Amino acid sequence: MFRISVICFFVLLLLFCSVNTSLHENEQLKQREHILNWHDNEKYYSIYSSEALVYKTLSGLQFPQNISANILNNQDFIKELHLILEGDPYLWLLVDKKNSLPADYIPSDLVRLRNSSYEITVQNMTLRRIAITGLEEMSVSAKNEGVQLFVTSAYRSYSHQSQIFEHYVNLHGFDKAVLISARPGTSQHQLGLTIDFESADNFEKHQQGIINDDNHADYFFETPEGKWLSDNASRFGWSISYPKDYEEITGYSWESWHYRYVGKPLALFIDTYFEGVQQYALEFIDYYTKQISNIKM
Ligand SMILES: [Zn+2]
Repeated sequence: MFRISVICFFVLLLLFCSVNTSLHENEQLKQREHILNWHDNEKYYSIYSSEALVYKTLSGLQFPQNISANILNNQDFIKELHLILEGDPYLWLLVDKKNSLPADYIPSDLVRLRNSSYEITVQNMTLRRIAITGLEEMSVSAKNEGVQLFVTSAYRSYSHQSQIFEHYVNLHGFDKAVLISARPGTSQHQLGLTIDFESADNFEKHQQGIINDDNHADYFFETPEGKWLSDNASRFGWSISYPKDYEEITGYSWESWHYRYVGKPLALFIDTYFEGVQQYALEFIDYYTKQISNIKM
């Protein structure tokens, strides 16, 4: 009798835990939808001053002091922020280790990449239409300056991310895998707005094993393509997601090849107010829009 009671207790505990986890996940997804539809609450938002929301966001996030000063000392900040928020919300949606996309999120306007002013190294890669336009504009300009961009990775579905993550866990173990690869649902590649670039110089070095997961960022950064992107990408609306020395902020090692299309206004906004660190800007927007979404009459 005692044994049966113990078993029943553990079965009930297990049931409780799983219900609790799925409730938590549902709540998170619901909140994400709220963020995407933040403007539905605009009428409520107007009862608060945007300055107050900026102050609240900055005190909630604890950014480096010069970033906060930059924001507070510039009268155009709020106007520029609101112009960005009026655009496609997926351009500014925070997707990182703590903020994931639903497994069934697939962008509705994926288009296949074809060799053009840029070259592709894998067939059947896709990106959102808006990002392809941004890629074409940037790669034409690079080509005119003698730089040929190669695209090695673009949109990745949830199941593709699972395969990649598993591959890295098998190769390096879990602790290192989480530093260099995204867990399923947390990859910016699922947005269909993100590209991994490569340089022609590096293909052979990859095959010979000279370039590996530890030195790839240095090698790519030293190529003409890596340098050109670092100097010019933001002018075309592309932003480096995992810059050097920001591992603690972004949660990822430096990836000199990984760029997210955020559009020109947001790319300029990131450079002007957030020292070129995309993670800071997207965290700011996430916190700010969450407050608007949470405001009730
Ligand atoms: Zn990438």
